[in-house]
Amino acid sequence: MTENTHDQREVDDTNDQRRVVVVGGGLAGLSAAAALAESGFAVEVIESRRNCGGRAASFEDPQDGSLVDACQHVAMGCCTNFLDLCQRAGFGSELRRDRTLWFIGPDGTRSACTPAGWLPAPLHLLPLLFGMSHFSVWEKLALAYGMMRLAVRQTIATDSTEPTAARWLRSRQPERVIHLFWQPVIESALGESIELVGISAVRKVVVDGFLAHPQAADLLVPTEPLGKLFGTKLVSWLGDQGVVVHTGRTVTAIQYGDSHEVTGVCCGEAVLPAEAVVLAVPWRAAARLVPDVLPPVDESFVGSPITAVHLWFDRQIFDLPHAVLVGRVSQWVFQGDEEHIEKDEKPSGVGKEGMAHHCQVVISASRGLCDGNREHLLETVVAELREIFPEAQAARLIRSRVVTDPTAVLSVRPGIDTVRPSARTPIQNLFLAGDWTQTGWPSTMEGAVRSGRYAASVLIGSMNGTERPVVEDLRKNAVIRLFVGG
Ligand SMILES: Cc1cc2nc3c(=O)[nH]c(=O)nc-3n(C[C@H](O)[C@H](O)[C@H](O)COP(=O)(O)OP(=O)(O)OC[C@H]3O[C@@H](n4cnc5c(N)ncnc54)[C@H](O)[C@@H]3O)c2cc1C
Repeated sequence: MTENTHDQREVDDTNDQRRVVVVGGGLAGLSAAAALAESGFAVEVIESRRNCGGRAASFEDPQDGSLVDACQHVAMGCCTNFLDLCQRAGFGSELRRDRTLWFIGPDGTRSACTPAGWLPAPLHLLPLLFGMSHFSVWEKLALAYGMMRLAVRQTIATDSTEPTAARWLRSRQPERVIHLFWQPVIESALGESIELVGISAVRKVVVDGFLAHPQAADLLVPTEPLGKLFGTKLVSWLGDQGVVVHTGRTVTAIQYGDSHEVTGVCCGEAVLPAEAVVLAVPWRAAARLVPDVLPPVDESFVGSPITAVHLWFDRQIFDLPHAVLVGRVSQWVFQGDEEHIEKDEKPSGVGKEGMAHHCQVVISASRGLCDGNREHLLETVVAELREIFPEAQAARLIRSRVVTDPTAVLSVRPGIDTVRPSARTPIQNLFLAGDWTQTGWPSTMEGAVRSGRYAASVLIGSMNGTERPVVEDLRKNAVIRLFVGG
């Protein structure tokens, strides 16, 4: 793989800035680099792939060379650190804010569910919950009660005795409400099945993602490919802050000095000296590089798969920005871009001349989906879209691509928070970051950005004495604070 150094600059050895190497150019590593550069450190990021962005990445469409996200990523209004990083890097406006969540019930009924911005929390949620026309009044009341019951100030075991979401919900919520609300919402927010996730992670989603604030549940949808936002714009902004980013270069070992402090990182034969290192790679890569520093990651840390089904039709098949398809195999569908197609792909007399319309179906916790048979999955997803959207019935599927990441996110099972490591390690100048570390957040872009900021903060604290706080959560009003605590 060829190596790339952004900005063609090398860290200047003659100045007295303290030199830090960040291993991994995902959102955790890039956010750590940003915070460190802002505090005056000389920062180098080493990323093994050709582009930065890690799991939030795009692939090049072989048809026209355009960038297509491997899987649609969305953030929520409660993701304060992720949004702050995007603002600082100058592309905050390239995240579209969808205040209305579109749900499509099993019988095809559409519900536009919009939290009321003018009502104080938690009343702002009433139009969202009561807008779901696929539920009876009784079911809506049960759902509102279930949310409140989960959110109310309480002690939930966070060790391995913590109940799973399914166990907690089954004794408290109607089966239909679990199937048509809790399951799709939890699986898409946490990327894991309700049978496996711990209830404390679900409580976090309910409190921070819905109840806490009228803007918490807003959906932030990137309007540019992730590869452009994080792989190009974020990296270029970091270059302006003085960060040197090397891509296509793999760290093969951490180098230690006599007093067991880190002295640098090895990329094959080459050694990059450093006064401190932030290791911002996924847990398996971290365990390979520093096996004696981490808890036994193999037993406790399990990845959960997410599948994206990319479809290019000869016309636009639906008129919404996104939709949550409840009670189906397909969980979310997102509107994509229009692109030009080759003449031989296009049948005459249908659709807009020479155009293909991309849309993407996202299925979280996709373990064992359609018995791993891609053709069957594709047929199922297309059949579901044709059942829901009349326009899809006549549309021709021009091409498709199924992308599964088998370890897309950390599976937040009961007790996981007791083993997620913090940013600090037993080695005084080695720090950990990554969406799998102890952030209090599930494995998300927000979790990754926070982890990078935590690692930078403790590093700065250990060298300069003053830690940098992360951006605060959306402000909870007095009623919410009284009700949920904190
Ligand atoms: C399919 C899918 C859908 C998702 N959907 C969402 C979503 O909608 N919303 C959301 O918030 N989150 C979503 N996520 C999760 C989100 O992408 C991750 O939580 C986040 O990107 C993790 O960032 P990270 O920096 O912790 O790790 P990574 O992105 O994995 O970055 C680690 C980096 O380290 C590099 N690396 C590894 N080993 C080495 C080495 N030895 N030397 C140098 N570099 C190395 C890797 O190449 C990688 O770039 C999704 C993830 C996937 C896969």
